[in-house]
Amino acid sequence: MEEQQQTHKPPQRVVVCGGGVIGVCTAYFLAQKGAAVTLVEKSSVACAASGKAGGFLALDWCDDGPLSSLARASFNLHRSLAQELDGPQSYGYRPLTAFSISITESKPHYNSPSSALPSWVDGPARDPKIIGNTETTAQVHPQLFTRTLLSKAVADHGVEVVIGKLERVEVEGGRVRSVALEGGREINADVVVLALGPWTSKFSLLSTIFRVYGLKVHSIVLEPKVPDAITPHALFLSYHTARGGKPTDPEVYPRPTGEVYLCGPSAEAEVPDDPEQVVGDPESIAVLKRVATAVSSHLGEGEVRVKAEQACFLPCTDDSVPVIGEVPGVKGCYVATGHNCWGILNAPATGVAVAELVMDGCASIVDLSPFSPARYVKR
Ligand SMILES: Cc1cc2nc3c(=O)[nH]c(=O)nc-3n(C[C@H](O)[C@H](O)[C@H](O)COP(=O)(O)OP(=O)(O)OC[C@H]3O[C@@H](n4cnc5c(N)ncnc54)[C@H](O)[C@@H]3O)c2cc1C
Repeated sequence: MEEQQQTHKPPQRVVVCGGGVIGVCTAYFLAQKGAAVTLVEKSSVACAASGKAGGFLALDWCDDGPLSSLARASFNLHRSLAQELDGPQSYGYRPLTAFSISITESKPHYNSPSSALPSWVDGPARDPKIIGNTETTAQVHPQLFTRTLLSKAVADHGVEVVIGKLERVEVEGGRVRSVALEGGREINADVVVLALGPWTSKFSLLSTIFRVYGLKVHSIVLEPKVPDAITPHALFLSYHTARGGKPTDPEVYPRPTGEVYLCGPSAEAEVPDDPEQVVGDPESIAVLKRVATAVSSHLGEGEVRVKAEQACFLPCTDDSVPVIGEVPGVKGCYVATGHNCWGILNAPATGVAVAELVMDGCASIVDLSPFSPARYVKR
């Protein structure tokens, strides 16, 4: 490792492709370390999962698995980034308490809430348990977080943003030379980072080594008429429908903006080429509205304005572990993807690790070996 560091030459020009939370964090930390960075995004920054996620963060929920140190480092980085960046243009970082509850769909009937639950959770909830406290769980508004970080990277570190679709990574003599965008533009680069979320497998450079598939998830954003009634408590539900069957596990996140975000179960689906074509299916959206009504009298029809009805894709790998590292056989081409349901949490430490790998030749914030794309290459 020492030898690698001594011989490592930092790159002149880095192109990061993909303007989701992973690409933006990577661009931010690369630029902070002195790289000249261009970020290429085909639609708009945080237009996909990184803008439509819940934004829930947990210190220790990935313990006992390969993500533990990435998650712990990221949770702490979120706290320090918020101290540094979450000023008047707030992106909604705050610690919060998380509950698990069991709830059954019914005609709205509200009780005096159980003393074990926040007062706005007045639906027929059972078995409340505290599963995270203000030391171990927190949240951000993911779209505002991603866009705030990018604005800072542009203003303070000169990151250039190009709206354009990556078509190809040009390779010469086994090394990255440039990226080619749709329409013929070419940007020279000695390093390229591909942070394309569920679009990763559209590139044969990567899909010949590993697969990233998309799980489609629906979500809604509600604006309650009485936002002050809703306190900072995240809810992880076991939701039983009146018809019976297997319960589902929707999540409810009140935000400091006064909004309440809900998301539902996931299903494998084809990822459309254009992120703007990812739309929600009306039945899945209707289910989320019924969940909101069951949870709280403050979230029922007539009590809220529906701000968003949407869907997006979790980027998933076959072994459920993200892929972070240099692409085997292509010097200077790195990948950071496959963060599944923890991409908002794990973006900061992913960004720092990739920046260290590119600029210093190895990552010190976390051991990247469990995430290496080389694990898919048969020996
Ligand atoms: C409903 C839902 C709730 C979630 N809640 C949480 C949560 O509470 N906490 C948490 O930690 N995680 C959560 N996640 C997971 C998290 O949102 C994702 O892991 C994360 O956003 C993935 O980020 P990404 O940058 O890899 O991908 P994306 O956000 O999908 O970004 C990829 C970007 O690449 C761009 N792109 C694609 N192809 C090209 C191309 N050819 N050229 C240029 N650009 C291109 C796309 O336009 C897109 O902007 C949630 C996810 C979902 C779906």
